[in-house]
Amino acid sequence: MFDVAGRLALVTGSNRGLGNALARGLVEAGAHVVIHGRDAAAVATAADELRALDTGKVSTVAFDVTDAAAVTGAVEELVEQLGVPDILVNNAGVQRRAPFTEFDSADWDLVMATNLSSVFYVSKPIAKAMVGRGSGKIINIASVQSQLARQTIAPYSASKGGVAMLTKGMAADLSRDNIQVNAISPGYFATEMNEALWSDPAFDDWVKKRTPAQRWGRLDELIGTLLFLASDASSFVTGQNIFVDGGMTAVV
Ligand code: NDP
Repeated sequence: MFDVAGRLALVTGSNRGLGNALARGLVEAGAHVVIHGRDAAAVATAADELRALDTGKVSTVAFDVTDAAAVTGAVEELVEQLGVPDILVNNAGVQRRAPFTEFDSADWDLVMATNLSSVFYVSKPIAKAMVGRGSGKIINIASVQSQLARQTIAPYSASKGGVAMLTKGMAADLSRDNIQVNAISPGYFATEMNEALWSDPAFDDWVKKRTPAQRWGRLDELIGTLLFLASDASSFVTGQNIFVDGGMTAVV
């Protein structure tokens, strides 16, 4: 029921960080995973590391998720070469921090394009191909910030709230074609994106006190939910946003 062996999966932003951990989980489960990022060399290095696991299969693709035309071209090529993905994980994302009154407009555009518009750009051509086949799994990586705001990251919170609603909207349109669209909302996991947070003792202390589990998440703790949403086990689960956050969003 949870088997994803042989399934073709594209994980955006998988050359490092959380996306890389998600890709690793799928490769270890025997899937054929397409590793993605902007820099072909960095993507190739990450792919080689996953190939060394000697499970599943690994391919690569490089494109900027904020460039709608580049996305369409790359996705068309991918489908032509490898077939229609069974699983799409929209993970690529970016963070910018500043007080609201000082937030740079270009940074607002970047955050919205990378975190929200990209989900539309990448999903649309793949969903179209999935509809033609009559099956598919789309998993959007949102955040606890899809539900809770925090100082200095209003644009990020807006983008992730958008991802949660886009997930519902996509489910509304695609579920009749046997495509399940869900979101995973991670709590705090130490990656490059939030180095400024985990390297700050005061923030580290805050995360541990604010999270009922009293610790940061470990990247492999996202894999169980990922495999559930990527496999037949979730064939009647769609439009949901599952929080993998050690209980953070359950408490004040
Ligand atoms: P990282 O900064 O470690 O990695 C970001 C990834 O996204 C990289 O692979 C990067 O590729 C890719 N990416 C960024 N911008 C673009 C772009 N324009 N085009 C293509 N790829 C791009 O971040 P995380 O791993 O921490 O975050 C991954 C996702 O998880 C994000 O959506 C984030 O919001 C979400 N998340 C993270 C949490 C955490 O605690 N870390 C908590 C909740 C959600 P490149 O190397 O080319 O830059």
